Amino acid sequence: MLELDEWLSKRIDQTKAAGLYRKLRTMNTAPLPEMLIDGMRHLVFSSNNYLGLANDRQLVYAAETILNEFGVGSSGSRLTTGHTEWHRRLEEKIAQFKQTEAALLFSSGFLANVGVLSSLPEKGDVILSDKLNHASIIDGCRLSKASTVVYNHIDMDHLEEKLKKTSHYMRRFIVTDGVFSMDGTIAPLDQIISLAKRYHAYVIVDDAHATGVLGEKGRGTSEHFGVHPDVVIGTLSKAVGTEGGFVAGSRVLIDFLLNHSRTFIFQTAMPPSICSASYAAFEIIEESDTKRKLLDSNVKKIKTSLVEMGFEVKGDDTPIIPVMIGEPTEAVIFAEKLQENGIFAPAIRPPTVPVGESRIRLTVTSDHSSNEIDYLLECFYCIGKELKLI
Ligand SMILES: *Cc1c(COP(=O)(O)O)cnc(C)c1O
Repeated sequence: MLELDEWLSKRIDQTKAAGLYRKLRTMNTAPLPEMLIDGMRHLVFSSNNYLGLANDRQLVYAAETILNEFGVGSSGSRLTTGHTEWHRRLEEKIAQFKQTEAALLFSSGFLANVGVLSSLPEKGDVILSDKLNHASIIDGCRLSKASTVVYNHIDMDHLEEKLKKTSHYMRRFIVTDGVFSMDGTIAPLDQIISLAKRYHAYVIVDDAHATGVLGEKGRGTSEHFGVHPDVVIGTLSKAVGTEGGFVAGSRVLIDFLLNHSRTFIFQTAMPPSICSASYAAFEIIEESDTKRKLLDSNVKKIKTSLVEMGFEVKGDDTPIIPVMIGEPTEAVIFAEKLQENGIFAPAIRPPTVPVGESRIRLTVTSDHSSNEIDYLLECFYCIGKELKLI
């Protein structure tokens, strides 16, 4: 038997040989469009801070006030000593924002997905899951005692075929991302819900990238399509700008999760200061659509310009903009050249995406100025020409 470290070094060498080695970069500034990364100035086009709220003064003030009053940590799980009025107020706010009866906070979106999928579908049930669903949904399915059937990405015919083939299960749950994190596609929730009605299935949607972004008021995929899925899951860590996850739905659903979801029961409650900051974020999102309009016009400008230049751009109009490059080595060179020009945007390679679909995954926020976007586009044009991609 090898020493543990010796064996792990071998495993890491394999990871490196496969070109999949990852390492940390240190951010030396607050999350803004322009940041110091490892001491170097960069324009960042890879953040989830879609509405620029992570560094918003109103949120900082809200956190600061409650931090002084309640202290740093929550000291216990929600069912023991961790539940404060700020948890209650935020849950009421989320329920009102998502237009559901109730909501429940989790410590992260990851834990909300795992908590729902490992408790709601039971043995004898089946989960129908989109092929490109987030890792936390996949892990939730793995932890569930129900079976899992995967359908092709947003392929409604394939989903229907799977629904026809799974009628012998007790209950059926369709689970989907609202906006897909690598492709920027929007799940056709209206069609998913009508299929679910026809074949008697429940619908769970993970609105991590849609909350604050999609729909007239930013309520998410449900508002975008004017539909009401059975379970809405979300995160506070993207457009909301803070940290934590939530589930929104009926009062009974929330009561069930509070009693049965292990990632809720056995987890220390979020700090109250983060709850008050999140509360302030929802107020900002509800009050005005200025940030959302800015975001939307930034998305449209980047997508239209890249397509005009001759790039292949995937996805619907969301802040996730995948620019297709093809081979992993080319995608890496592209990302390095962007970085040489002071732009931070990652190359995404297999196995995260299929072979031949390596890409630069751009994300844009409402805070990016038109000068910053013009500079990004200029760099894309030059590098695209240099690498003969356009
Ligand atoms: C980011 C993300 C999550 C996880 O949310 P966290 O709050 O960061 O744990 C879950 N689902 C999707 C689709 C995501 O993009």
